[in-house]
Amino acid sequence: MVKAISLYSGGLDSTLAIKVLRMQNIDVIALSFATPFNNIEEKRSMLERVAEELGCELMFVKLGREYLDLVRYPKYGYGKALNPCIDCKILMLKRAKEIMIERGADFIATGEVLGQRPMSQNRKALRIIEEESGLKGLILRPLSAKFLPPTIPEKEGKVNRSALLSIKGRSRKVQLELARKYGIKEYFTPASGCLLTDKRFSDRLLDLFLFKGKKKIGINDVELIKVGRMFRIGDKARLIVGRNEEENRQLKTLCKKGDFVLIVENVPGPLSIVRGIVNFNGLKLAASIIARYSDVNSKAQAKIIVYNYDFSNVITEITAPPIGNDLIERLRV
Ligand code: SF4
Repeated sequence: MVKAISLYSGGLDSTLAIKVLRMQNIDVIALSFATPFNNIEEKRSMLERVAEELGCELMFVKLGREYLDLVRYPKYGYGKALNPCIDCKILMLKRAKEIMIERGADFIATGEVLGQRPMSQNRKALRIIEEESGLKGLILRPLSAKFLPPTIPEKEGKVNRSALLSIKGRSRKVQLELARKYGIKEYFTPASGCLLTDKRFSDRLLDLFLFKGKKKIGINDVELIKVGRMFRIGDKARLIVGRNEEENRQLKTLCKKGDFVLIVENVPGPLSIVRGIVNFNGLKLAASIIARYSDVNSKAQAKIIVYNYDFSNVITEITAPPIGNDLIERLRV
């Protein structure tokens, strides 16, 4: 039986690509990548359900440290935000190639649509991705196949080219019609995927790059900038303020050696973390920002206790009035 590894993000295009292959009775392993910038693992049960309906195995691969290096120094640059789509696809396809060899598959498929995304889905980018991943002629894009040169599995008769599709461009009309026709109801919307395409998150990530200088970025650093409100309280220090109980809890779990934890004592208020090198004035500024998000009256003062990262020591206590709106906006990342 012909076997394919098909990249599966949970979006409609990658679901349809698998469907098209399954309709040719090709054995498909749906391959999903969890990166530090998507929350695909949380949606695993949906992916499993869809994979079962499509009659294919689901495989998960986690990309961690190496993915962070790639995001920081992409060979082919960024898209509109900090999304290094070409480098990202090359890395995923290199992994897919290893799995293709291990599992004895014949080729790799993706849900890419020619002309859908300006950066990574034009002819030149598709060619670069193929060459750099060492998969020349072995990447089939079932949705746009008729606009692209025949791949090796098509030439070898393992895939029937005439049953592949000719979709091109940014409109999703054809895909939505096909989803209705094939009864595909569960898929993620295009906006729900990768945080790197989000402008606001990218600003925070860029700030993290500047903050770290030449030092490596860790998964914990990335997790921290996903949570709460973030402020620059000096060249070398950042303040993260929880927005609700859940974020306060998350921040607690993200504390690491060298961080300061700030808690409002006299009124209800958020839990906050200061990370970096900070003096007493920096902590005072942090206390005023935290006071702004506490229940303290605008003319009163909040009492803030500063702990070390694991709450084993009280470093200091600060009383501070809530900061003004103008200044807070200048400090916000
Ligand atoms: S949107 Fe994100 S996951 Fe998708 S190719 Fe670009 S960087 Fe990779």
